[in-house]
Amino acid sequence: MIHRALNLINNPMQLATYIGTLLNKDFLFKRYSNLSSDLGIKRLYFILSFDCDTEDDIKVVSKVHERLENMGVLPVYAVPGELLLKGEKEYRRIAESGSEFINHGYREHVFFDNLTNRYKSNFFYNQIPEELIKEDIVNGDNVLSDFLGLKIQGFRVPHFGHYQKNKQLKLIHTILKELGYKYSTSTVPLYGFIYGPIFSKFGLVEIPVSGMWSNPLRILDSYSFFYSQSKKFKTSYYYESDSIRTYFEEKGLVGILNYYADPSHIANNDLFFKTIEHLTKVSYSISYEKLIEELALK
Ligand SMILES: [Zn+2]
Repeated sequence: MIHRALNLINNPMQLATYIGTLLNKDFLFKRYSNLSSDLGIKRLYFILSFDCDTEDDIKVVSKVHERLENMGVLPVYAVPGELLLKGEKEYRRIAESGSEFINHGYREHVFFDNLTNRYKSNFFYNQIPEELIKEDIVNGDNVLSDFLGLKIQGFRVPHFGHYQKNKQLKLIHTILKELGYKYSTSTVPLYGFIYGPIFSKFGLVEIPVSGMWSNPLRILDSYSFFYSQSKKFKTSYYYESDSIRTYFEEKGLVGILNYYADPSHIANNDLFFKTIEHLTKVSYSISYEKLIEELALK
């Protein structure tokens, strides 16, 4: 069954209709935990990363960071190069507090649409030539490594949900490998259930993001719960991620909860912070680089 799902990942429309029939949570999570154990993972880890795609993120990011820091959580930041330069002061302070930054490309990939008064996505990697993808990754690397004065180790594809085909991920990993990167965290939860919480199928270490409890294959993102106008997901359901934790604990399962959010979506929402606070009590908060080090992965 899982291999059929793997074929379907190259066909998003079919995959969407198939997802509903796939959800046997016991099977999925048990498999995921077993694959985690095989990697030497002995507990439940929790990684929080922030995609900072707009200038609204710059306005709130310091406040959000401080609140999380007080809970003992240091998020990992994915900021496109252009926005890193615009929010240099804010991101400088965050970097000095010890947070890791990952390359998230150079160009801004979200714009404000004055007609609808909403942010909209653009600059999708699946819609541009390979040379432009490479250029965007290299430019993002240059800006970020100059900013931090460090060699960058990790990357997340902009709008990564639209860039999941094997050949696409192979291309990204090839570019990252040439740049001397250690990992990418650009895959949807399905990959975690197929290959485990960390895998190297595409050339480099890949760490899939985690899904929702009610739909383990759907990313638990802040857009759906806190920003989207579709109201498909009630904000209150965000706390359901707690159910995953309870389940893991009850069944004695191990793994990595790899959640990401956009700071501007959650800055004024106590439910987000309540969820994170809970997670810190029941799982071990860590960053990507520290986790890779801890598991002695190459
Ligand atoms: Zn982004």
